[in-house]
Amino acid sequence: MNAAIYTLGCKVNQYESQALRELLEREGFSVVAPDEDADVYIVNSCTVTAVADQKTRQRVRRCKREHPDSIVVLTGCMAQAFPKDAEALPEADIILGHRSQAQLPALLAEYQKFGKRVVRVPAHESKEPFTGARITTFDERTRACVKIEDGCNRFCSYCVIPYARGRVRSKPLEELKAELEAVAAKGYREVVLIGINLSAYGQDSGKTFPDAVRLANSIDGIDRVRLGSLEPDHLTDAVIDALAGCEKLCGQFHISLQSGCDRTLKRMNRRYTAAEYRALAQKLRAAFPDCTLTTDVMVGFCGETDDDFEESLRFMESIGFEKLHVFPYSVREGTKAAALPGHLPKRVKDERAARMLQLGDELRKRFFTSQIGQTVRVLFESAPKEGVYTGYTANYLPVQAKSDEDLCGKEIAVRVTGVGNGDCVIGTVCEN
Ligand code: SF4
Repeated sequence: MNAAIYTLGCKVNQYESQALRELLEREGFSVVAPDEDADVYIVNSCTVTAVADQKTRQRVRRCKREHPDSIVVLTGCMAQAFPKDAEALPEADIILGHRSQAQLPALLAEYQKFGKRVVRVPAHESKEPFTGARITTFDERTRACVKIEDGCNRFCSYCVIPYARGRVRSKPLEELKAELEAVAAKGYREVVLIGINLSAYGQDSGKTFPDAVRLANSIDGIDRVRLGSLEPDHLTDAVIDALAGCEKLCGQFHISLQSGCDRTLKRMNRRYTAAEYRALAQKLRAAFPDCTLTTDVMVGFCGETDDDFEESLRFMESIGFEKLHVFPYSVREGTKAAALPGHLPKRVKDERAARMLQLGDELRKRFFTSQIGQTVRVLFESAPKEGVYTGYTANYLPVQAKSDEDLCGKEIAVRVTGVGNGDCVIGTVCEN
């Protein structure tokens, strides 16, 4: 049988789709590209925003409309957090929660035998162990994302993730070691450690986040260790010192801030103040001189006044982030914020998002311009377009350079000569 997987959402979902792919291939399925004809279509859903839910529904309906004889499987965060909404989609033949993904081959056989809809969405439990299949490869050529943590205990007032993902669970270090060795053996020189609340790693197992980073740092064949999104208050002085001791760790930190205004942070139930975040940024820049800081910022959260927004905007500029990921607040059913007063009209959210994005573009341009004249080491990853290769530095500067030599998978010195058209700088390969 042929199967195709549509993945919505974050790197953790992409990792789980890869694990599903390898599981199906072990069971004799051929996994084809999503736009190809298949007997089974799997939609690995996201529910972080209302738009994500809408995209999930559209994809499920489209799969069945275009392939009426196929089996459509709906899994992922939308199915887990809102099983009733998932069941309301008649086009979904099989509905799977996260804890049932490993049973997919058996449930496909059950559906084929009895032709009856299959729904398996067991709720997450408090003492649930870390489960899920492992990966040996990833759909990128140079960098492999490896999930080490699942779940979140935070319940930020706007966020539906803890309801979809359950409590913090950490991958045992022995299993992580085996998985990292497997991807290194497949030629991946860079690994990205990811999770739902990555820096909460070990809260359930007595291990610590630095334990996992040190382990990745020790694997032969892996030259770069990159980190997914981090929570500010998990990055204590001791954690920063431990991370600074990992020589393969990339100096690129994506630390979710959400707002630069303390009144808004309080209503979001975030566990730090703007001043504490600023102090953290200073400590990281001291410990990792060339590091870059990027962040998530939400605009238009309920009760955010014009002054609150202006304060947040000024704060983002004062930190001098190298990139901003901007999200207009999206009301999620069942979250505390959904019941808070002061929800703002879409027009206001869109205006604030446009201004924050404009600032983000200016900060990005400043970062790129500051790199001109520098010589940087770039790990080239994608196949060339018209002889132009693209790659990233350790601090995640995207660089394009022309070469007649195959640069894929190679780490090369490049002199930055200018800002590129797209989201990158351009440079010339330095003679070794
Ligand atoms: S830390 Fe907050 S925003 Fe992040 S997943 Fe947990 S509840 Fe959601």
